Amino acid sequence: MRSKLPDIPTSIFAKMSQLAAEQNAINLSQGFPDFPSSPELINLVTKAMKEGYNQYAPMPGLIELREAISQKIELLHQYYYHPDSEITVTCGATQAIYTILSSFIFSGDEVIVFAPAYDSYAPTILAQGGIVREIALKAPDYSIPWEEVQAVKNNKTKMIIINSPHNPTGTILSLGDMKKLEGFVEGTNILILSDEVYEHIIFDNEIHHSVSRFPSLASRSFVVGSFGKTFHNTGWKMGYCASPERLMHEFRKIHQFVVFSVNHPIQKALAEFLKKESNYLSVPQFYQQKRDTFLSLIKDSRFTFTPSKGTYFQLLNYAELTDLNDEKYAEHLTVDHKIASIPISVFYKPKKDLKLLRFCFAKKNDTLEKAADILRKL
Ligand code: PMP
Ligand code: GLN
Repeated sequence: MRSKLPDIPTSIFAKMSQLAAEQNAINLSQGFPDFPSSPELINLVTKAMKEGYNQYAPMPGLIELREAISQKIELLHQYYYHPDSEITVTCGATQAIYTILSSFIFSGDEVIVFAPAYDSYAPTILAQGGIVREIALKAPDYSIPWEEVQAVKNNKTKMIIINSPHNPTGTILSLGDMKKLEGFVEGTNILILSDEVYEHIIFDNEIHHSVSRFPSLASRSFVVGSFGKTFHNTGWKMGYCASPERLMHEFRKIHQFVVFSVNHPIQKALAEFLKKESNYLSVPQFYQQKRDTFLSLIKDSRFTFTPSKGTYFQLLNYAELTDLNDEKYAEHLTVDHKIASIPISVFYKPKKDLKLLRFCFAKKNDTLEKAADILRKL
């Protein structure tokens, strides 16, 4: 049988979470909170169900929710997306990403992707017959090597994918990066997929430089968001895409045949919940405390690290502990020490031996303490 993705294994997130469950290990691998979503939000979902929001939602999403998303973006970034024609509610960010790439990437089109990266980008590009132009971020700060980006640009370059705050490294793009990006796309038709799912998980009073803050970028960009990250309910798979109308028009042609529309009662609840700005403005502080708790608990371990600037992930370098490669070491830690993490090498093609593991700190303090007890003893 022919395969569309012959070289693509099962996602590392599925693999490590399954191993963690089998081994009864503390699961700091796949990124999801182990504490509940807001009871107020859950009540709003129940209320919406009781009020009858149980049939298909409108294809692009409930207008109240699209309006609330538009208002949030305008408040934070002073850029207006028209709720009617420039925002679509999606089944998580993953569906938004799939829909963008399947709407715009034709066979032979090149897409610039930075490694390490969220694992859905490359397979989705390949499934469209596109070509992945992978550029490794420059360690130790995982900055974008803009000269290399410039060097791979050619007349087949269709799109560039950026992700800030960045999974898995926990770095963020600077104002300087955004200016470089403006220069890079100027005078071209290159599109930008800006994966901003961790927009509200950013620390130390840093500013999230959304592409929507830069009119010359916004006019060619898709902004992708995820309520799962912001409101602690990754299992609801709710996200959105915002883009200029001419791009959104094409996006919706595919969206309507991928899912048609997404969970109606949850859209109603999110529309209501977003009205209270503190519900998202409090998220950075909440996660900064989690990061600081985790880092102070492991500061006397033999791992070395640079504190995450955003996302709910922390990279730990284990070069002082073993020569094992990261996949083997992640497996060993899960099976023999009962703590699961994500190896970073799998996010590069070909794999890179970096002695780095990613740990998710979106966990109850009690979980973080138990995890740190294990990590300190290694
Ligand atoms: N992009 C990045 C960078 C992510 O980390 C994730 C989730 N892990 C997604 C997209 C997908 O988000 P969702 O769960 O809303 O599909
Ligand atoms: N984005 C999450 C992570 O990085 C996982 C998403 C998934 O399981 N596909 O861990």
